[in-house]
Amino acid sequence: MSTLILGGGLTGLAAAWHLQQRGEAVEVWEAAESVGGWMKTLPWEGGHYETGPQGVLWQKGTAVDRLFASIELPFKSPGTGARWVGKGGRLIPVPASPPALLFSPLMPLGAKLRMMAEPFIPVRGAEPEEGLSAFITRRLGRGVATELLPAMVAGVLAAPPEILSVDAIPKLRQWEATGSLVNGIRRSGVSHMVVPEGGMGQLPIRLRARLAKVRTGLRAERMESLPDGRWRVSGGGETREADRVVLALPAFEAALLLGPVAPQSAEALAAIPYTSVDLWHSRHAPLPALKDSFGFLIHPPEGRGYLGSLVPSWMDPQSTPAGFMQLRSFIGGAFGKPADLDAWEGIFARLKHWIPTLSDAAAVRHERAERAIPRPELGHRARVQATLGGLPVGVDWLSNARFGPGVRDIVEGLETWS
Ligand SMILES: Cc1cc2nc3c(=O)[nH]c(=O)nc-3n(C[C@H](O)[C@H](O)[C@H](O)COP(=O)(O)OP(=O)(O)OC[C@H]3O[C@@H](n4cnc5c(N)ncnc54)[C@H](O)[C@@H]3O)c2cc1C
Repeated sequence: MSTLILGGGLTGLAAAWHLQQRGEAVEVWEAAESVGGWMKTLPWEGGHYETGPQGVLWQKGTAVDRLFASIELPFKSPGTGARWVGKGGRLIPVPASPPALLFSPLMPLGAKLRMMAEPFIPVRGAEPEEGLSAFITRRLGRGVATELLPAMVAGVLAAPPEILSVDAIPKLRQWEATGSLVNGIRRSGVSHMVVPEGGMGQLPIRLRARLAKVRTGLRAERMESLPDGRWRVSGGGETREADRVVLALPAFEAALLLGPVAPQSAEALAAIPYTSVDLWHSRHAPLPALKDSFGFLIHPPEGRGYLGSLVPSWMDPQSTPAGFMQLRSFIGGAFGKPADLDAWEGIFARLKHWIPTLSDAAAVRHERAERAIPRPELGHRARVQATLGGLPVGVDWLSNARFGPGVRDIVEGLETWS
C-alpha cells in the first residue's frame, strides 16, 4: 500500500512514521520550506524561541513516551513549576494539591465545597454533545466553571469556554467515562511537562530524518480519483499517484483540496473555526519569584485581551542567554484585542500591572500566529462526523481539530488511528 501524506507538521510526520514502521511506502509533502508546522524552534541571539508548543505532557509507558523512544529523542523535564492565576488585581498561586485548594482565595468556599462532590455526580452519556462550560458546571459546579475554567481554557485554546464543545478537550469525557473526573485523573497518573534537548522543533526534525521520503516547498493543489480506485495529487508542477491520501492539514486547508472530490467533507471542514493569537517574546532581568515558574494565566474578564505569560527560561533554560529571564505573552485569541495591545508598550504596561518589579525588556520579538488553533465550538462533533462520513475510500483527514489541541492528544490519537 502506498500513502501520500499532505502536511509535514507534527501530525503528518508522526502519521508517516507509524506507517513506515509497519513497512508501508510513504511520502510526505510539506508546503513550507521546512517541516514542523507550528512546531518550530527558531534561533534568537544566544538562545531560541518556540513558534508553537513550549513543551509536551509526558508519562512513562504512554504514546508520547513510545514515540520519543522510537526516534531516540532526548528530552528533560524542568520539574513542577509554580503557576498563578491573575485575579482581583493580583497573581494567586494555583494550589499544587486538591486539599490546598480549600485554603486558596481562587474561589469562594461554596464553590470549593461543590467541587469536592465531583466523584458522586452521575456519569452522563456522550449524547447529546455538551458545551464545555455546561460540562464543568455539571461535574464541578458553577464556581469552577466561572472562576477557574476561563483562565485554564484561555491558556490552551485562547477562547472562552462558553462557546466551546466539551470535545475541545477530549480528555474530559474520557475521564468522566471512568466514573468521575477525579477517578479518571487518578487512573491516568501524573504527567510531566518535558522539552526535547534543543527545543520542541527537534521532534519534527528527528522524525523527518527517519522518514524515507519528505518533500518540502511542495504545496498540494489538486486531488482527483483514478478509475482504478487510486488517487492522483498534483501541485508545484509535480504529480503523484498513491493508493491512499492522508490530509494532515488544518480543516480550512483540507477543505480546499476536498471541495471537488468530497463536497460534504469539505463543507463540514470549512465550518470549523480557527483562532489567531499574537505572541510576544521578551527578555528581562531575572526575578526570583519567576525563577522556578511555569508562568501565569489571567482570568479573561480582567485580562481584556492579555491572556497570560509563560516563562520559557524555566521550561527550557537553553532558550535564554545567561543573566536573563525569558517570557512569552499571549494576546488576543477569540477574546479580541484592544488597540493598546498592538504594540510592545501596551503589552509591557499589562505585564507591569501583574508583576510590578519587572524590568524593561532587553529584547523583544513579536509573532502573529494566524489561524493557528482550532476552535471546536458546540456542534464540533457533528462537523467531524460529517467530515469523516463524507470521505471517499482511500482518503483520510488527521488533525488536532480531530484528536484534540495538544501534542499529547495528537500523538495518542495517531497511535489509535494507525
Ligand atoms: C502558539 C501555539 C502554542 C501551542 N502550545 C502548545 C503547548 O504548549 N503544548 C501542546 O501540547 N500543544 C501546543 N500547541 C498545539 C500544537 O502545537 C499543535 O496542535 C500541533 O503542532 C499541530 O500540528 P499539525 O501537524 O496538526 O498542524 P500544523 O502544525 O498546522 O501543520 C500542518 C502543515 O501542513 C502544511 N500545509 C498546509 N497546506 C498544505 C498543502 N496544501 N500541501 C502541503 N502542505 C500543506 C503547513 O505548511 C503545515 O506545516 C500550540 C499551538 C500553537 C499554535
